[in-house]
Amino acid sequence: MPRKSPRSRRTPGRKVRVPGTARHRVTPGRGRAAARARTRATAREAQAGHAAARAKRPAVARRPVARRAAALRPASRRPVAARPAAIRTSSRARFAPPDPARVAALLGRLERLYPDAKCALDHRDPFELLIATILSAQCTDARVNQVTPSLFARYPEAAAFAGATQEELEDMIHSTGFFRNKARAIRECCADIVTRFGGSVPRTLEELTSLRGVGRKTANVVLGNAYGIPGLVVDTHVTRLSNRLGLTRERDAVKIELALMPIVPRGRWTQFSHWLILHGRSVCIARKPRCSRCPLLPDCPRFGVTASE
Ligand code: SF4
Repeated sequence: MPRKSPRSRRTPGRKVRVPGTARHRVTPGRGRAAARARTRATAREAQAGHAAARAKRPAVARRPVARRAAALRPASRRPVAARPAAIRTSSRARFAPPDPARVAALLGRLERLYPDAKCALDHRDPFELLIATILSAQCTDARVNQVTPSLFARYPEAAAFAGATQEELEDMIHSTGFFRNKARAIRECCADIVTRFGGSVPRTLEELTSLRGVGRKTANVVLGNAYGIPGLVVDTHVTRLSNRLGLTRERDAVKIELALMPIVPRGRWTQFSHWLILHGRSVCIARKPRCSRCPLLPDCPRFGVTASE
């Protein structure tokens, strides 16, 4: 049988394709236009899906992504407010506990500087010291010492304070400042002492801090100075000096107390607080410490000090 040429095999009437012209597709959905439409539809669906998923995701889960994106951004385009937080975190992470030999040298110098350091609030017993300490908040010790003699003459015990009226107590302590809050705290604290402790000031930190208006600082003052039970008092001076001396990087009073406990020998806790308070008042003052005449200078890293005398 003779071989037919390709031209002769073509179906009669079928259009011959001219090279360079678009090919006619008969199968639906297989052409380039259909493929483009499919791609567009898929992209739309994906976009809608992402948006729905984003809306459902909790805010917390999105945060790390935002942080990663912020970290990848060039430093010059990062928000200014974000930078100090990063600096603070890294400086805290770098803090190492102080060298015990340096701490021992500091304690020795402080002891020689303030051999007679003691509580500056006049008192005859734990109860008077408790009331005087409540009054000393935001007030000088000298002012409190002017007020307390007449106060204790009129109200000699907890029951007398608990029975006093708010107005008459406010009048008596007016000059110490914040007299309304202080009068309320004293009355409520004394009512607690009478009803729960039989009129005697308790001897433990837990019991003392359970009294209304009494915090850790007041409790440690009473324990250390009236009962002889060691207690670290953390006030504004102790906070500032323990940071400058490189003993801690904490700013919170309770965290500072916990940080100092393993560094300072327990038997010196009460004295250590007195030493730092006295040194903070006379030499290491808040605004411009007198470093050039400070005996602690050889052992002080002067952390955070930007200007000094
Ligand atoms: S050297 Fe300066 S910063 Fe350090 S304790 Fe003395 S006064 Fe304060």
